[in-house]
Amino acid sequence: MKPRILIVEDEPGIADTLQYALRTEGFEPVCCATGEEALASARAEPPALVILDVGLPDTSGFEVFKRLRAVSDVPVVFLTARSDEIDRVVGLELGADDYIAKPFSPRELVARVRGILRRSNKPSTPTVANAKTELTPAVVVDEGRRQIRFYGRALELSRYEFGLLQTLASRPGHVFSRDALLDRVWGDATESLDRTVDSHVKTLRAKMKLVAPALEPIRTHRGSGYALAEDLPAALPSPT
Ligand code: CA
Repeated sequence: MKPRILIVEDEPGIADTLQYALRTEGFEPVCCATGEEALASARAEPPALVILDVGLPDTSGFEVFKRLRAVSDVPVVFLTARSDEIDRVVGLELGADDYIAKPFSPRELVARVRGILRRSNKPSTPTVANAKTELTPAVVVDEGRRQIRFYGRALELSRYEFGLLQTLASRPGHVFSRDALLDRVWGDATESLDRTVDSHVKTLRAKMKLVAPALEPIRTHRGSGYALAEDLPAALPSPT
């Protein structure tokens, strides 16, 4: 089956170019010109990836992104026209998978799309979340089974612990702010506070500690947030 790519772009020229380039490369592109249309389309038929223009007629791409993220982990590539938009994409830890500045070459964009799809979580396919040791990954997320293995041992996680570790493991080394984690994991839950994140990190750490007492897989970055360690060993250190 061809991967479905949702293009959210109100400039017909750009949308057409993208659509043509993606179709030529074996994707199934779908175009929407407004944010509302895009959200409805993503709900109706979840795409494999979203290409999202920042400047849309009805709302901003950032807003669309936030609403999309509340319900889905689909990879998103922002299209930006101005450097201040790029600053926001890069600086705000929006958690976008990539961005590309206009004007861009369709070939480059298709190459990025391919790269992201290769890396991204595919349902029921375990995601390898250890950059250095791909053969024996420390953390393996099996989205289809809602299961995460840590050094081969399935962790018994609550829904939010699962979401937290899944998010951290999606980008080992990347520091996610408490806000970003709240947004991604808790989404529209009403009673969510910074300390909600902290307390779930605490219980998650305790569960990981049972498997690997000597390791500190979740790092705290004071004042900024949490990250999954990039340098986890390939195998559990033997107890000494
Ligand atoms: Ca636009």
